[in-house]
Amino acid sequence: MDYQNYILNQPYMRNFIQKKANSMTKSAYIFACPDDETLYEITMCVVKVFLCENNGFDNCPTCQKVECGSHPDLLTYPKGEAFSTQDAKDIIENANKKPMLSKNKIILIKDLDNSSDQAQNKLLKILESPPNNVIFLIYTTNINKVLSTVVSRLIKVDVTPFDSKTLRLMFKHYENNENFELAMQSSNGYIGYTKRILIDDNFHKCHLTARNIVTKLKNSASVVDYIIPKISKSQFDDILQNMQSMYRDVAMLKCGKDDLVINRSIISDLKEVQDEFSLKAITKIIKKINDVNKKQFSNVSLSLLFESLLVNILEVKYLCR
Ligand SMILES: [Zn+2]
Repeated sequence: MDYQNYILNQPYMRNFIQKKANSMTKSAYIFACPDDETLYEITMCVVKVFLCENNGFDNCPTCQKVECGSHPDLLTYPKGEAFSTQDAKDIIENANKKPMLSKNKIILIKDLDNSSDQAQNKLLKILESPPNNVIFLIYTTNINKVLSTVVSRLIKVDVTPFDSKTLRLMFKHYENNENFELAMQSSNGYIGYTKRILIDDNFHKCHLTARNIVTKLKNSASVVDYIIPKISKSQFDDILQNMQSMYRDVAMLKCGKDDLVINRSIISDLKEVQDEFSLKAITKIIKKINDVNKKQFSNVSLSLLFESLLVNILEVKYLCR
């Protein structure tokens, strides 16, 4: 794993290494942050800390088994699309069997927020009387959708984003990618976000959508051209991130700080729109985008949130003339 050495240096990882050293391993943890891939990479490192004798620093046969998913003491769920009551039954059946190669058995549950209340309640029963030598590692990009009764049984791990210096080192081999600076500035320190900006076509479509909104959205009648029915979470995240960095660039241009513009490939487009916005309007718009970003974790549909954001942007733009 490319990122392992950087992850192992994060403060929360030292905590796990310490816990293992003290044999405080009978536990259940929940990891939460907005980026799925960061959560995956981090929990895989934690799995190695608990299963590998050298805390995952050595790429030994144990580490390799973990990586290719063939370690008998690592059970990964969900087996299907979302964690189900069947998965919970499977855990009950398997968790009480002795570990085969290690001292502990690890149950890794991905994206628990996608599962039904019924399945989560079934899991809760297991967490209330956990089997011996079993460590639960559960992750979610939306902790608000995990039952509070389940969360209260788990130790919450604060997954902080990587700082910009570390992120630069992690992605050093992309230094010549035309979007490298954009990725460094706009990915909020998360692995999946960074990768999407650097190599994902879908991100580039979102980049284009954001660019059209920032440079071409003129009146409420044209909002309809930019509405995306059934917008996915990753589309939503990507468009918002792009819009935010573009509005920030417009603000830089207005202040005469052209050299601080991140989206350099579209700088001429951004220069054209800078007169349409007052600095006050841009500041307000960036704040609105932040607010909408937070609201995505409520039960409002993403498409509706997105539409109301566009209407809001136009309002601010005209009010702050
Ligand atoms: Zn190892």
